[in-house]
Amino acid sequence: MSGVDDPITAETSAQLGNYTRYEVTFTRGEGVQLFDAGGEAYLDMLCGIGVTTLGHAHPAVLEAVSAQSARLLHTSSLFWTEPAERLARRLVELTFAEKVFFCNSGTEANEAAIKLARSHAGRQGRQAHEIVVLSDAFHGRTMGALSATPQEDKQRPFAPLVPGFKVVANDDPEALRAAVDDDTCAVLLEPVQGEGGVQVISDELLLAAREACDAVGALLIFDEVQCGIGRTGTLFAHQQTPVVPDVMTSAKALGSGLPIGAMLVAEGCADALPPGSHGSTFGGNPVACAAALATLETVADDDFLTRVVDLGGYLKEALKPFGRVSGRGLMIGLDIDPELDAPGIVRSMLYEQRVIINATGPTTLRLLPPLIARSEHADRTVAALEAVLAAAAAQ
Ligand SMILES: *Cc1c(COP(=O)(O)O)cnc(C)c1O
Repeated sequence: MSGVDDPITAETSAQLGNYTRYEVTFTRGEGVQLFDAGGEAYLDMLCGIGVTTLGHAHPAVLEAVSAQSARLLHTSSLFWTEPAERLARRLVELTFAEKVFFCNSGTEANEAAIKLARSHAGRQGRQAHEIVVLSDAFHGRTMGALSATPQEDKQRPFAPLVPGFKVVANDDPEALRAAVDDDTCAVLLEPVQGEGGVQVISDELLLAAREACDAVGALLIFDEVQCGIGRTGTLFAHQQTPVVPDVMTSAKALGSGLPIGAMLVAEGCADALPPGSHGSTFGGNPVACAAALATLETVADDDFLTRVVDLGGYLKEALKPFGRVSGRGLMIGLDIDPELDAPGIVRSMLYEQRVIINATGPTTLRLLPPLIARSEHADRTVAALEAVLAAAAAQ
């Protein structure tokens, strides 16, 4: 194998240039820290965009992954395996769901949900194929999930999109009610939007979606790919709202860094995907499921979740002097002065302060700290941000 002794850059990399990457190569992680090739430590307040939610090399995850890797890696979906069944049963115990489907990513979980919703409508004898989505939504990059993601720059190069998606404003319950009709098979939304700025969807809108779906027999689908798995202070974000969905998708933090997605389905909807109708070669992978079960057992604990709420409150309070703070628990957005450039702030945080955060737009910073972080990590982040923002404002 040829070496990568020199720093990897966009120019020297053999990988396709579809990502904008920072000029840092990480080789190791431990707890809240990442270490670069030179051994330099960074505070990871982003967790791989909300994935390594228990920090790096968490003992419970490490133990589950190594034990399961030694035992069995893969069998295909022609056979049962124990880790997937254990994980499915635990998810059913902890949620509204009756059945679970496993795949490998968030976008795949949403594809499954889109297919389930269309198939379900047909089986109910409804000629309904439309899916209502919200402005600023992000549901993934494959063609179905992309079609549900009303962001011009992401959609335009890949037209024509999958037809049948209708967009309403993410803060307008009446518009949502009006959009749901006999052609609607589902409403799909993130209870807390992630990529489109950190935006908490109001209970009023969630209730309107629930009522409108019930009135016509459409499914309410929550995409908790980013806001689930303890991120907002409850195991799933909707558990802090008055609304329960029919279908929920999960991924990102579910596997603590191993690729896994899941679609959770309420009683009465699971039949819409009968044998042969949908599948995934790697779905339900034993190692990914073992990692997910270890993650779930750690996060689904009242004391653990209380600490998420407490640290989230502490961090949000400390960020208030810098701009408008949004989000729930440890899913936090900070709208900074529009005169400042959020991506530039993120770069300075990384290169000068060695603190990892990111930006979800030109003026919104996003923090997704590991749920195991403590107040000293919040303090260090706030001090770094204060220094960087002051320097940027002085320019
Ligand atoms: C990241 C994300 C997705 C896509 O997940 P992938 O694993 O990247 O396919 C879908 N929905 C939401 C809300 C996300 O944040």
